[in-house]
Amino acid sequence: MSKLIYEKSAPGRRADNLPHLTPAEFAVNLRIPRKYFREQAAELPEVSELDVVRHFTNLSRKNFSVDANMYPLGSCTMKYNPKVCERIAALDGFSSLHPLLPQLRGGGMLTQGALEVLFETERWLSEIVGMDGFSLQPMAGSHGELTGMMLVAAYHKDKANRKTKVIIPDSAHGTNPSSAAIAGYTVVSIPTGPDGGIDLARYEAALDDEVAAVMLTCPSTLGLFERDILKIAELAHKRDALLYYDGANLNALLGRCRPGDLGFDVVHVNLHKTFGTPHGGGGPGSGPVGVKAKLVPFLPTSIVVKRADGTFALEYERPKSIGYIASFYGNFAIILRAYAYMLLLGGEGMRRVSENAVLNANYIQARLKARYDLPYNRLCMHECVFSASRQAAKGVHAIDVAKALIERGLHPPTVYFPLVVKEALMIEPTETESREQMDELIDMMLEIADLADRDPAQFPAMPRNTPVGRLDEVKAAKDMRFKA
Ligand SMILES: *Cc1c(COP(=O)(O)O)cnc(C)c1O
Repeated sequence: MSKLIYEKSAPGRRADNLPHLTPAEFAVNLRIPRKYFREQAAELPEVSELDVVRHFTNLSRKNFSVDANMYPLGSCTMKYNPKVCERIAALDGFSSLHPLLPQLRGGGMLTQGALEVLFETERWLSEIVGMDGFSLQPMAGSHGELTGMMLVAAYHKDKANRKTKVIIPDSAHGTNPSSAAIAGYTVVSIPTGPDGGIDLARYEAALDDEVAAVMLTCPSTLGLFERDILKIAELAHKRDALLYYDGANLNALLGRCRPGDLGFDVVHVNLHKTFGTPHGGGGPGSGPVGVKAKLVPFLPTSIVVKRADGTFALEYERPKSIGYIASFYGNFAIILRAYAYMLLLGGEGMRRVSENAVLNANYIQARLKARYDLPYNRLCMHECVFSASRQAAKGVHAIDVAKALIERGLHPPTVYFPLVVKEALMIEPTETESREQMDELIDMMLEIADLADRDPAQFPAMPRNTPVGRLDEVKAAKDMRFKA
């Protein structure tokens, strides 16, 4: 374990060259009223500049990141985030903007460019997913889902439809049923059929006039294209139920197939997955929501419009809108990175993204399926889902495979999701990993499968070379007190 910076403290050692003032002298110099003075100096570590630099550099090296290594977490699309997008988001003209600057006159000179970025991003996203309008406000995929469900509710209320249910397959991400429930709907879960798609007979039986929406992920969380999608859409629309697209897996279809053309009415996309913006540590994310024309009037306030004279403005007069769902205009700097990413790749580049993402996942699936169970053995899309059930029979579970990968210096895939696969190991290489990098992961997983056969007793001690070893996960969640 490395030392805390307080343990490196030595009396009198300093990292600055400022005049040496007592806290009180300092406060007087800065004209701070006496009542705010400290009684005692703050107990800060006394260290040199080099100590500080080394301390934080070494801490940052403990972080696992896409910049450091492969991150094959399924459903998360941990692709490389091009550095040029970071540079663009850091440009002064964008990063120094205040959201309350006026849109026109005076400060308008400063905000027109930002408004144009928002306007163009909405247009491009609409074109990519086949929708008629977008809101960039939602701050995460799950936030987009909730916004989408609120739009569904507003649509039905406007038509005086009495609808109470939302249909969701059992393979869905947990945020789907929670978003539908928070929006006031009863969730009806449909089982997965033998080919990995939704069980069509059970779906038809559940679809009545009370159903407000059907929420689908396509490709599903099993990484499989929903073969019956056109039929599913037709049946839903016959009942005036709307079709919701969870766009977390858009990386598989980007530039090749548009959810809007498949019959979807509402879509969220995760800019922090498909559109190469940073992802991790809980945010910031961005989950814009797109809709077909019949839902545009309900989109959140405000919307960017282009006026006849070519200038851009925010439109607030939207009587049917569900209102604000985030402060100001969403996570602007993240939207800006996605805009730069789309500009960088262009239409052809985006098509290559999905092509290579799918090719890479199928390469991994083909090379690992002799040693790991593949519950749905068919061509996959951008991710493949194995089961460690064969290893589990020897006492080596999905979590042990994950810990063994950590010991070997790689980030593990997603484990135990989707819930419909026992001992799930869900791998998403993304289009940005090279064949050599994927081979490294595959070879490690093959070696781990061998070890599970040969010597399963080794696994419980792994990882043996990390600063923190195997944690008691139940205790970690139930007892938050830190003990060294
Ligand atoms: C990531 C994900 C979500 C939620 O998105 P967040 O941005 O993490 O809130 C929803 N559905 C699926 C399938 C996902 O992979």
